[in-house]
Amino acid sequence: MNSILAPNRRRHLARRSVLVALTGAPLFGCAEVPPRPDEAAPVVELLEVPGATLEVQFAPGLGAQLRADALLWVQRGALAVAAYFGHFPLPQVEVLLLPADGDGVQAGVSYAEPSPLVRIRLGRETTQAQFSADWILVHEMAHLALPRVPRSQDWLHEGFATYVEALARGRAGMVSALDVWQAWRREMPLGLPQIGDRGLDHTPTWGRTYWGGALFGLLADVGMRKQGTPTRGLQHALQGVLAAGGDYRVAWPVARILATADAAVGQTTLSELYAQMRDRAVMTDLPALWRELGVADGELRDDAPLAAVRRAILS
Ligand SMILES: [Zn+2]
Repeated sequence: MNSILAPNRRRHLARRSVLVALTGAPLFGCAEVPPRPDEAAPVVELLEVPGATLEVQFAPGLGAQLRADALLWVQRGALAVAAYFGHFPLPQVEVLLLPADGDGVQAGVSYAEPSPLVRIRLGRETTQAQFSADWILVHEMAHLALPRVPRSQDWLHEGFATYVEALARGRAGMVSALDVWQAWRREMPLGLPQIGDRGLDHTPTWGRTYWGGALFGLLADVGMRKQGTPTRGLQHALQGVLAAGGDYRVAWPVARILATADAAVGQTTLSELYAQMRDRAVMTDLPALWRELGVADGELRDDAPLAAVRRAILS
């Protein structure tokens, strides 16, 4: 989908933004003509993070203080994603921020074409605390690190984005490890098969798409670290997909994504799990998994058999 700003306009604004940053003065201002209120015009800022330049576009209607807060929020989110994947997944990305009534980060969408774009709806009264607590931006950025898949297999994209978002924010100190594991303990059950389930590839419900996919990610991550060494898991496997050219600009079959990820860690864990779960309702004994990992009610236990795996995933 196109952004609200036409391409030539966007380039013009981007250049102007750089010049303002260099000179400290607007390029086109003059004493006789009063400047427009800063809420009335689009503003573009360029952000450099490891591996990428982000073009942050503020649509008209977002005030100066909100833009300043939002720019820090985008930078923190992008750095968290870059740290998880070793670098930001794509070299050039537009982040389009659109104003909405009320407060809070309200919705996000990622587009691959015509050029990579993350579009977010932002309440005009969003507070710094709401920026700090937001997960939507990091979720959308995590989508950029995986090839596109057929819509009927969205569980892989949404599930991995859901799983990776929590880890990227956790590792960056934006949320505590305890909070991440407690949230997963509450929410992973939403991803379990219900009556009539026909496997991940054939059950496109909300729960199976987001949390069924996230549970697939967790089971794969734990499985990889149990089979090999606790310090190598899904993160390294997904970095291998990126290194092989598998990002949001390309479309790959699910099996190719998983085989490429497996190969990066010298295992077949993901492909085997997919073979088990793609066409069948597979129940996971989540209480047993939490006990093994040491995720108890309100605490993390280091005397659990897989505590080292849990700490390697997120501590
Ligand atoms: Zn998503």
